[in-house]
Amino acid sequence: MTETNGSIIEGRTGPWEIVLGLEVHAQVVSNAKLFSGAATEFGAEPNTQVSLVDAAMPGMLPVINDVCVEQAVKTGLGLKAQINKRSVFDRKNYFYADLPAGYQISQYLQPIVGEGTIILDLPDGRTREVGITRLHLEQDAGKSLHDQHPTKTYVDLNRCGVALMEIVSEPDMRSAEEAAAYLRKLRSILRYLGTCDGNMEQGSLRCDVNVSVRRPGEPYGTRCEIKNVNSIRFVSQAIEYEARRQVELLEEGGTVVQETRLFDSGRGVTRSMRSKEHAHDYRYFPDPDLLPLEFDDAYIERIRATMPELPDAKKARFIADYGLSAYDAGVLVAEQETAAYYEALVEGEGGKTRDPKMAANWVIGELFGALNRAGRTIQDSPVSSAELGGLLDLIADDTISGRIAKDVFADMVETGKPAGEIVEAKGLRQVTDSGAIDSMIDEVLSRNADKVAEYKAGKDKLFGFFVGQVMKATGGKANPKLLNERLREKLQ
Ligand code: ADP
Ligand code: MG
Repeated sequence: MTETNGSIIEGRTGPWEIVLGLEVHAQVVSNAKLFSGAATEFGAEPNTQVSLVDAAMPGMLPVINDVCVEQAVKTGLGLKAQINKRSVFDRKNYFYADLPAGYQISQYLQPIVGEGTIILDLPDGRTREVGITRLHLEQDAGKSLHDQHPTKTYVDLNRCGVALMEIVSEPDMRSAEEAAAYLRKLRSILRYLGTCDGNMEQGSLRCDVNVSVRRPGEPYGTRCEIKNVNSIRFVSQAIEYEARRQVELLEEGGTVVQETRLFDSGRGVTRSMRSKEHAHDYRYFPDPDLLPLEFDDAYIERIRATMPELPDAKKARFIADYGLSAYDAGVLVAEQETAAYYEALVEGEGGKTRDPKMAANWVIGELFGALNRAGRTIQDSPVSSAELGGLLDLIADDTISGRIAKDVFADMVETGKPAGEIVEAKGLRQVTDSGAIDSMIDEVLSRNADKVAEYKAGKDKLFGFFVGQVMKATGGKANPKLLNERLREKLQ
């Protein structure tokens, strides 16, 4: 076996195609849990956010949290999905130390949201549609802590009963790159909607990856499910490893066993965890403590009315209104805050608009670079959109060149001073006086009479040398366009 070309693995016996479906658990943004009033805030002291319902004390009854239901419906609308006006909570029975009730309240045959779609923005600017199978609401379990005592396991029930949305995709993805694009886009939509904060490190967004391989054109092969992968990079690594493992196995005449595997991020491999459990193992049945959820159209429309402009619509608008490339528009809309910064930059103050393409280049290039280096987000950018706008205005009115502007920007990041002040203090104004430029050109040409002769004899490349010399004499401040014009004339 040799190379992977995105979706195709070239095996010893021919090509194999990777097939991927993702199950994402997204923690619902809500102050209280799905069926109790306990708080959900991350990072609290263990077992300080546990109600009697969460601890499954006898006789305690779950009460549905309407906010969580609204969040699930809103997410369904954001995924252009079927909202089911009637859905049912079921008990999924299994024993685990951090699941005191002995069952998880989930949804099985009648989930709150049905089929939808999500559009992937691929790195080369292409897009691709992936089907959403369903979204259902369920409770999270608690957390077992194995590292607090040499021989004992501790249990923290803070997370027990927190609302999760399980979002299941169709097996429509064909490469690690597409799976990564799926997660980025899903995360972006959830964050726009405010229904999940998308924080993978804190576990608000967790991903199970289903991987199988097949000969191109053949029916799907047997899949393995890799549980709880907690970063987009690890998802890609787990897929690459697992697909190769399956190809090697099949090429040696073996068969893939359907099972649940774990990704060991330290070693970059997947390991078998348990054989695949089936729905009938869980003895699902409707939870007798809860009524079915029922909504009417007015309820759904009321939620629809609160939806913000989502990434796809914003991207289309940026392309249409600002003439941006699909790639640039996709980058700028990925986070709502970036899109807002960019729009404020272009729209300026008092009806003034700035060159949209130039503004996009500055945000994606210089600003992102500076934020990365400083480890900051755009919300606490050291340079506001109004301040960056001030710099772009100095380029637009020829006060400084684009080249000098980059130095001024670095200074703005460091000192927090406005562009104009830096330009004045350091004397960076462009030389646009043609008389001054002419005299510097004359000086350079007379100092380099030999080179002038070579140029006139046909050595065209020397033009750049003369430009460089004059630029140097002006400390980089000569207006480049004017300098070129004047120099060309003088060398005629
Ligand atoms: P389960 O409930 O047992 O996990 P589902 O039918 O809900 O099974 O499927 C779970 C996930 O597996 C879905 O995301 C689906 O797209 C994906 N999937 C199903 N078949 C395949 C396959 N052959 N290869 C890769 N992924 C698959
Ligand atoms: Mg599953």
